[in-house]
This record gives sequence, C-alpha cells and structure tokens, in this order.
Amino acid sequence: MLSTVARPLLRASLASVPRRMPVAAATAATASYSTKPQPLTILTEDEQMLASTVARFAEDKIRPRVRQMDAVGKIDADILKGLHEQGLMGVEIPAEYGGTNASFMSACLDWPRSIRASKDKYLPRLATDMVGSFCLSEAGSGSDAFALQTKAEKKGDDYILNGTKMWITNAAEAGVFLVMANADFSKGYKGITCFIVDRDTPGLEIGKKEDKLGIRASSTCSVNLTDVRVPASNILGKFGQGYKYAISMLNEGRIGIGAQMLGLAQGVFDVTMPYLHQRKQFGTIIAEFQGMQHQIAQVATEITAARLLVYNAARLQEAGRPVAQEAAMAKLYASQVAETSASKCIEWLGGVGFTKDFPAEKYYRDVKIGKIYEGTSNIQLSTIAKSISAQYRS
Ligand SMILES: Cc1cc2nc3c(=O)[nH]c(=O)nc-3n(C[C@H](O)[C@H](O)[C@H](O)COP(=O)(O)OP(=O)(O)OC[C@H]3O[C@@H](n4cnc5c(N)ncnc54)[C@H](O)[C@@H]3O)c2cc1C
Repeated sequence: MLSTVARPLLRASLASVPRRMPVAAATAATASYSTKPQPLTILTEDEQMLASTVARFAEDKIRPRVRQMDAVGKIDADILKGLHEQGLMGVEIPAEYGGTNASFMSACLDWPRSIRASKDKYLPRLATDMVGSFCLSEAGSGSDAFALQTKAEKKGDDYILNGTKMWITNAAEAGVFLVMANADFSKGYKGITCFIVDRDTPGLEIGKKEDKLGIRASSTCSVNLTDVRVPASNILGKFGQGYKYAISMLNEGRIGIGAQMLGLAQGVFDVTMPYLHQRKQFGTIIAEFQGMQHQIAQVATEITAARLLVYNAARLQEAGRPVAQEAAMAKLYASQVAETSASKCIEWLGGVGFTKDFPAEKYYRDVKIGKIYEGTSNIQLSTIAKSISAQYRS
C-alpha cells in the first residue's frame, strides 16, 4: 500500500538522509556508515533528525486529533497537508523529484527510462500534495493475489481496464492508482501488468468505504473499473512484470508494516508504564509487584527483539540485499508483539484500560490489521518456510 498515513511516519524514523540532502552527500554518508558497523539501534545523525521531526509532528499535530479522527473514521485534511509539507510523504521519493531519498524507492521499483514521463508527472506530486493507492486485492483474490480477475484488453495504443479492486488503502484521498490487471490470461500470473491510473479517468469509481475495527482514519474502499481507458505509456515498467513489482512492493511494504507495529507496541507500552508506576494497590506501587515486573520485562524484551528484526530488514532493503525472508519475519513477529503489548497493557491498566478514557483500547484495535494486510501471518509463515527450504534443499 502506497503511503498509508502511519507508515511514512514510522518509516521516516528509519530513513537515512534528510529532506533535500544533495545526492553526493547522501552517498558519502551511507558509505561512511557502511564501512563502520554500528549497533542496529544507533541511528545516524540524519536519521535522528528525521525521527525527531516525525515525533514532533505526531505530538503537536496528530495526537490532539486522534480521538476525533477515530470516531468519525476520516483523516483530517490538515494532517495530510502537514505530512506533505514536512516532506514525510516523500521519504521514498528521489530528491530530484522533490522527495527525500532515492534508495528505498529505487530498490522497490526498477522503473525504466521509457516511463520517465510518468516519474516526472507523478513523483513530484506524490512528494508534495498527492496520495497514491496500490490496487492488487479483489473479492476473490486476497492471499492468492495473483489469481486476480481485473482484465486489461489492448485496443489500439490503449488498454481498457475492467474489474473491481477491494480493500484499497487511501482510495478516498488518492489522486493516482497503481492497478494490477491481467493483460494476457493465457500467460497466467505473467500476464499481470501494472497500470498507472489517474483518479479522474472516466470509468474509475470509488466504491464502498469500509467501517473498520481499527486504523479508522485511513480510508479503505473498493475501486470499480468500468471500461477505463489508459494509454500503453501508463504501464508501470514492463508489460507482464506486474507480479514482480507487486512482490517488490509487498516486501518493502512488509517492513513498513513491521515498523508500524513496532511503533504501536512501543506506543501503548509508553502510555501505560507511567500509570503502573503511580497506582497503588495493597499499599504498593503496581509496577513493584514481581508478578507485574516479570510480565513487563517479557514484553519489553519482545519489543526490543521486534525492533532489531525491523531495523535489520530496513537496513538490508536500503543496501539492496535480498529481503523477502527478513521482511516477512519482521512483519510476522512485530505484529505478534504489538498484539501482545496492547493486550497486556490493557490488562495491566485494569478497568481504565478497557475504557475510551485511556488510549490503550485504540492501540488494541489498531494492531489487529498487522496480521492481515500485505499478506496474513499464515502467508508470512509460508514465505519464510519457502525461503528456509530453499536454503537446505539439495
Ligand atoms: C484495512 C485493510 C487495508 C488493505 N489495503 C490494501 C491495499 O491498499 N491494496 C490491496 O491490494 N489490498 C489491501 N488489503 C487487502 C489485504 O492485503 C488482504 O485482505 C489480505 O491479503 C488477506 O486477503 P483476504 O482478506 O482475501 O483473506 P483470505 O485470503 O481469504 O484469507 C482468509 C484466511 O485464510 C488464510 N489462508 C489463505 N490462504 C492460505 C494458505 N495458503 N495457507 C494458510 N492459510 C491461508 C489466511 O491466512 C486468513 O487467515 C487491505 C486489507 C485491509 C483489511
């Protein structure tokens, strides 16, 4: 999913160069970092700068509106505007297009020169005032994503798209959609091609907006495509390579979801701990009961382990190394830890944890998505198992 609200925020803390840093300087910074290994949790100066920008924005602009956005199920337009102004929606976009950083995006999409025009048109907008959506899932193809039925028929120099996409993040706000459609069913998944479709293209309609358990401020809608005509020049990359781009985007996305889950796990822990150090029962601070201390230590350890998995996967991605297994592990584990952390925090808070007066219940609702989107936990386990098998099979 391109640019969900939470992901750029969290991923920003892992990005390696500040907004508008010259490319040469960025390369030098990366080079000196890579020659001197550092503990994974020690961020570079640039990363720290970006992380504090994100933390400030989250504290000043997002926190005061969280409750209201959750209640109405809609992101505040000012937040999106602010994210763009801070450069946080362009953390993966090359600096030459007004974004912050080339490496993550380049690793994700090998966009050939022939679509330079598309890059010129969309990347500066995505960095400054536009949101994009990634349209892969359909009613009949979720985990089995490449069984998608949206079809693209060639008519002269154009393609005509027909089908319905489901569960599309940001669809309500998006200005551009990356649509996966099969342009040659006889080739199976190798017919899947990725089309760039403008929101105002005739025949593209945003359908039902889902009323969700969590991440309610992020829109999730169906997208209907009825005789949507797009020029062949709107093919992203190469014909029939859509499945490869989808895999790349999902691998990268899984690290993003891992980071999102890590942020939620740490966030709910951080809002809970002060209460446990104030409230007394039986004349004792709750956090001083050994029965509580051991549970707290266990959750803190799991959060730290999740952080190492997520940061390592992000570093591998930045370095252009294979990352499928590590990305799947990071997402799988971080989403498990986030659920444990949120659940435990509610229990530790007692009755107040179960009310909307305290933020823990929202964390508990928000973490659930981590085990579902960008591949369910079972699908992550299958990916990991396949990768392990390949290493040991003779
Ligand atoms: C809030 C939200 C946002 C989303 N955003 C996007 C988006 O922006 N773009 C997009 O394209 N999609 C998006 N999705 C779709 C999401 O990726 C799918 O929901 C997800 O991949 C699961 O597919 P499904 O819902 O069809 O479940 P199913 O595939 O029907 O799975 C149901 C259950 O069966 C299990 N299962 C299925 N196959 C196997 C197997 N082989 N082995 C073991 N267990 C299996 C699953 O693990 C799961 O528990 C979003 C979904 C949600 C809920």
